[in-house]
Amino acid sequence: MADAEPYEPTIPDLRDPIRAALDSVLDVARPHTDGALASYIPELTRADPEALGAALASVRGSVHESGDSETTFTIQSVSKPFVFALALEQSGLAEVIRHVGVEPSGEPFNAISLEPATGRPLNPLINAGAIVMSSLITGDTAAEKFAIIHAGLNAFAARELDLDESVFESEHATGDRNRALAYLTQSAGTLGSTAEVATGAYFRQCSVSVNARDLAIMAATLANGGRNPISGERVIGEDVARWTTSVMTSCGMYDASGDWLVHVGLPAKSGVGGGIVAMQPEEFGIGTFSPRLDARGNSVRGIVMLRTLSERYGLHMLQHRGAPHSPIAQLERDDRVEGGGDTIARLRGEVFFAGAEEVLTRLAPLVGDGGCLVLDFSNVTRVGDAAAALFRGLPDVAGLGPDGRPRVAVLDPEGVLVGDA
Ligand code: GLU
Repeated sequence: MADAEPYEPTIPDLRDPIRAALDSVLDVARPHTDGALASYIPELTRADPEALGAALASVRGSVHESGDSETTFTIQSVSKPFVFALALEQSGLAEVIRHVGVEPSGEPFNAISLEPATGRPLNPLINAGAIVMSSLITGDTAAEKFAIIHAGLNAFAARELDLDESVFESEHATGDRNRALAYLTQSAGTLGSTAEVATGAYFRQCSVSVNARDLAIMAATLANGGRNPISGERVIGEDVARWTTSVMTSCGMYDASGDWLVHVGLPAKSGVGGGIVAMQPEEFGIGTFSPRLDARGNSVRGIVMLRTLSERYGLHMLQHRGAPHSPIAQLERDDRVEGGGDTIARLRGEVFFAGAEEVLTRLAPLVGDGGCLVLDFSNVTRVGDAAAALFRGLPDVAGLGPDGRPRVAVLDPEGVLVGDA
């Protein structure tokens, strides 16, 4: 895609301004009719090549949809980060990375991409690693493993997803390359089941039917730290959500992942069914659908839509957003105290590591000159865990001044230093 034209937003449609923004991005993508439908099984060639849709779900639980956002297609490789997350939730990071690396392999989806020394697949988001992930899910049979995977995908999407039986039959009938990958990992000792059981679960997982709206909600669940913003259900823990989106950041777009990170800058995963999920941590998830694929297996128009959105709205996750607001709203001296005045620091807003660093660096020199430094958190809305621990311990570390009064006191009427931020 050439460099984007400067974008002049029009007055938004107030019925759904976000939908209007998505409509406009669909208009940019529509003329991109290059690429081809996936054809490794006949079922995928039956998709309507013109289908084009997108949806955005916010972490607050609103969903905005444009175009063919309710048209269904098979999830294919977009299932991989979610099953990786389910494996992490079930077995923990240490156990999972005994079986699979977390390195971008820079190779196509069906590559024989195994670590030379261990036989461990390098990348959980292309087939070899993904089949190993499916094998780790609890269950003795493919059906048992898939029942758990299916329930997990449903929880991510906040609805019951169907299995496309004819796609499954074809995947199963033509999946010898995937079986070969499974046998290679089985012989290396990294597969968690037999190759037949693993691929049986994996073929079903790829054949789950979704639409762009489902993908947006699934991605929003990751963006929301693992709690589904539509159903309110905690699907996975915050650590698992972070590990999963880390891998999407480095490995999500097959062998175009580095290019994607530079140009779009959102954790994402694409599938040969034509879907892409992308998310902005703490903000929203997006799902796009258009089935014509480029040579690497990524949806041509999906890439155009997400790149356009990212460029227009400055969504790159590493975009420089300027220094955060200082958390120190006001410093007051109270000189009525004998032997040295008190300093009251009124803090505000959200305080994470950089804010805590500023407060501590600027105010620490005031501790010890006789008065008490009062840190007032009454107007602070959120404190990160590490920052909260630093502040909570401060009165004890500072101890008592010569007058027997504490050198530091913390005023925290809302308990922002106690809750989990
Ligand atoms: N079912 C496909 C396969 O395993 C999924 C490929 C993809 O979406 O990358 O070959």
